[in-house]
Amino acid sequence: KKFNPDAFKDREIVNKLAQEIKLIAAQMAPLKIMHICGGHENAIVRYAIRQFLPAHIKVIAGPGCPVCVCPVESIDEAITLALLPKVTLLTFGDILRVPATNSSLEEARVNGGSVKVVYSPLDAIKFAQDSPQQTFVFFSVGFETTAAGIAGLIHSGVPKNLFFLIANRYMPPVLKLLMEVHDDSLQGFLLAGHATAITGLGVYDFMRDEFKLPCATAGFEPVDILLAIRELLTLIKNDQHQVINCYSRVIKNEGNLKAQQCLKEVFDLIPGVWRGIDKVEDSAYVLKDKYAFLDARKQLACKPPYSPQAHHPSCLCHRVMLGEVEPQDCKLFKKACTPSKPFGPCMVSPEGTCHVRYSYSEIK
Ligand code: SF4
Repeated sequence: KKFNPDAFKDREIVNKLAQEIKLIAAQMAPLKIMHICGGHENAIVRYAIRQFLPAHIKVIAGPGCPVCVCPVESIDEAITLALLPKVTLLTFGDILRVPATNSSLEEARVNGGSVKVVYSPLDAIKFAQDSPQQTFVFFSVGFETTAAGIAGLIHSGVPKNLFFLIANRYMPPVLKLLMEVHDDSLQGFLLAGHATAITGLGVYDFMRDEFKLPCATAGFEPVDILLAIRELLTLIKNDQHQVINCYSRVIKNEGNLKAQQCLKEVFDLIPGVWRGIDKVEDSAYVLKDKYAFLDARKQLACKPPYSPQAHHPSCLCHRVMLGEVEPQDCKLFKKACTPSKPFGPCMVSPEGTCHVRYSYSEIK
């Protein structure tokens, strides 16, 4: 049967799901579900999904924006590299305007740093091949999906003048931290569709076993999200704790086995800082020793001559990412802090909660 993407925006189906949610929730106490994907926050706000939910069912945003969780130390390293002679830093556009200790990468570029935006890691190969006398560093930021792309690239071999500054983060372990922060007040998680397409569902089994909490993968259309919320509520109501797949048109329960193998061959996972949040066990991708020759941290002088400072003192990004406060609770929101003058990472990326709320602020 031909796939019809518009069916996932269908008003009738959306209304039917909203009714079903209302019925299920009618006999439930107030509860909080967290999503951990910037794409979900964007879709939830854009399609006004929260308006379809009863007031006592809250869906809050967690640390799902890849650019937002990138540690300031890593951006400082990227800036240091971009300012080295004969070195060009390559990265995705989203990270360019994120404020770091003294400047952003964009400001570093204005000050003479060599920074170029790429749209795919494959572009990095082309840059390196086209200018063999120049040194290139790919600054890799993102979750499992981006890490898998980089692993695939490295696995198949890269030019000698291309290095990698890896700042990728692995999502599952941060859920333990979120449970602690929220003192067990969360009742379920919506899992990020793209990242779970790589890892599969099994990496979240600890949520069922240790925390007795259900999780559901979700896609990015209104029907996808409401369907996943309905299923989560049903599990919560029946005191069931499975990890379920509500995005099966894209995600296989076992994930992408080839990508998982590639990730395992190229990366180790070590404790890593999530910007403004904390160090999270086994959540930072680092290149394995056998790939040390590609590691910019080991091969190039990337340590900045200053100590990193995480964020502007009034910026609440770290608490927004933890789901403790809303962007509207920040006194800088829409006043001093706007997408054209961002004080924190959450206002930079279209996946950042502050940016999303700013962009669709006419939608309640
Ligand atoms: Fe930080 Fe700006 Fe968001 Fe406030 S509105 S938390 S300053 S990014």
